[in-house]
Amino acid sequence: MRLLVFSDIHGNLEALQCMLRDAADRNVHRSICLGDLVGYGPYPNECIELLRGLKNCRCLAGNHDVAVLWETSPYGMSSAANEAILWTMEQLTAENKAYLAALPDRLDVADMTFVHANPYNPRGWRYVLDRKYALRSFAATRCRCLFIGHSHRPLLITRKSLLTIDLQAVSASMRYRVDDTRRRIINCGSVGQPRDNDPRSCYLIFDSRKQEIEFHRVAYDIEKSVKAFHSAGLPPELGARLFKGV
Ligand code: ZN
Repeated sequence: MRLLVFSDIHGNLEALQCMLRDAADRNVHRSICLGDLVGYGPYPNECIELLRGLKNCRCLAGNHDVAVLWETSPYGMSSAANEAILWTMEQLTAENKAYLAALPDRLDVADMTFVHANPYNPRGWRYVLDRKYALRSFAATRCRCLFIGHSHRPLLITRKSLLTIDLQAVSASMRYRVDDTRRRIINCGSVGQPRDNDPRSCYLIFDSRKQEIEFHRVAYDIEKSVKAFHSAGLPPELGARLFKGV
């Protein structure tokens, strides 16, 4: 099976369409979106509807998805993010709000676990970027591969021994073999707002037969996306950061 894993679309329809077109040529059987379908970007309804229409695709809830439902307060976010959340609340249709409200926090499939931020406190939304939170994540799961998003930075964390981990930043399109018994945390990066200084959309495919993880980067028309941010009246810094991938 070839499983497409992606996350953090954030209402960036142009990026989502390009990413899905790219993945469609790579013989994918199933897809999992790790959350943050909305927030920041100008096309929340369109992104939700595109994902809802995909065959064999499951979605999880991200922090922006629950913030637009007032399940958590958006006032803890940066002022631009908060402004975008309030804007998104006004735009979402009742049907799409109901869809977001029904998204689960976690999915377990075979020896894989999927969450938006971390598995030990899913609605605490803490980032897993270092040893401490990686070990906490391993302790909270039994899976061999834990797939996460949220930080918008692709990352591979390998458990070398009980208390030793290896952190590997993922740059550009790369393949990693995972054909051993080591446990791993794999961050699939972000489709709609990458923050690893590469503005291209990021996603991964896990090939269970080859036991290989492929990271892919896809260029999209950022100029077009940023124009839509401006037309929607969203804070200009949210569009400007897309050019740099920060
Ligand atoms: Zn996000």
